[in-house]
Amino acid sequence: MQEQDEQHNEPAPREPQPPQQQQPQSQQSDGQQGGTGRRRRRRNRQRRPQDNSTGGVEELAVEGGESPATARPGQARTELQGRQQGGGPQISVVIPLYNEEGSLRELYRELKAALGRMGVRHDYWFIDDGSTDDSFNVLKDIRRTDPRVKIIRFRRNFGKSAALSTGFSHAQGAVVITMDADLQDDPAEIPALVKKLGEGYDLVSGWKKVRKDPLSKTIPSRFFNRVTSALSGIRIHDFNCGLKAYRRDVVKTVRVYGELHRYVPVLAHEAGFRVGEIPVRHRPRRFGKTKFGITRFWKGFLDLLTVLFTTRYFRNPLHLFGFWGLIAMLGGIAIAGWLTVEWFLGSPLGNRPLFLGGILLIIVGIQMVSIGLLGEMITKTRQESEEYSIREVLR
Ligand code: UDP
Ligand code: MG
Repeated sequence: MQEQDEQHNEPAPREPQPPQQQQPQSQQSDGQQGGTGRRRRRRNRQRRPQDNSTGGVEELAVEGGESPATARPGQARTELQGRQQGGGPQISVVIPLYNEEGSLRELYRELKAALGRMGVRHDYWFIDDGSTDDSFNVLKDIRRTDPRVKIIRFRRNFGKSAALSTGFSHAQGAVVITMDADLQDDPAEIPALVKKLGEGYDLVSGWKKVRKDPLSKTIPSRFFNRVTSALSGIRIHDFNCGLKAYRRDVVKTVRVYGELHRYVPVLAHEAGFRVGEIPVRHRPRRFGKTKFGITRFWKGFLDLLTVLFTTRYFRNPLHLFGFWGLIAMLGGIAIAGWLTVEWFLGSPLGNRPLFLGGILLIIVGIQMVSIGLLGEMITKTRQESEEYSIREVLR
């Protein structure tokens, strides 16, 4: 499905670094630990106060040069949850892009400046989602000057979720940042996101508090965010912000497919990760145009159903269908019983709409219970898929 420009799987080359402490990784998720093969040691320094049960994902104090644009005054250090021993990147930036030739050079410049200020080893994963403009050549040009720039090029446009998913499987940074390529997200927000991760979160989403998009987008989006928050129980305001920071475990655990990129926080939350949010600066689109039209809304709604169903009722479909099915059936039986009694007492059934209603409820109820049972049978035969997410294993 995808083609890699070159072999990019080695860790990013070492750059001159300010002195910093490496964090070993002792946390294991579901066995996907990246391919460094190095022994990871545990250190118990600077453990996060809020979350001391993460199996030793300790803090890495990264010396910053100047304060980043978004950092609070006096904040010269950025707390980063580091894990990787040796020369692996501390931060991998994953950028899905589709026909964004106008923005790429400026985006790279801003990213390099922001990450340079943080003084962390980093790399960039640009996922060219089948661009038909000059994006790929622009990226190759950038890569000539900086080998930390990795490019994955799809054969055709597969969508933002596919691009993110590929980026997630390649990125090896202890922290993975995702952002859009259209310059609407501000790379200067990265230190603040990483800092928030250090407070004990596994995923920190940007919140486009002041959104620089047309009203036709912002109003429905506000509605969607409210509904998603209410249904999923995650108290954040903006689910679909392109700018997010993840601990590595999250990107190696959640599966983003279809158009589920809108609901990564829900997927992560259902897998047991802690999801947080900070307001970020949002900018208007300067080059190119948006890739998501009006279809985003009804697709978004259907995807929400998919996410909630597959995450919450995946293990026990009968709990959803059976519950409502039984209620319908019991209602129908009660109505039918009552009408039967009345019939014995002499009132005719033929002209009573309730009679049809009762029958309908019984049939619908039986169907729902049957669908639930079928779902259970399918679930039982799909044991290979993961139903849980392991935080750590102590041997
Ligand atoms: N994108 C992508 N594949 C697609 C559509 C979009 O990789 O099929 C990228 C796009 O290039 C941008 C990001 O996803 O970097 C967000 O897209 P866009 O800015 O159009 O979304 P909006 O800001 O309008 O929600
Ligand atoms: Mg955009």
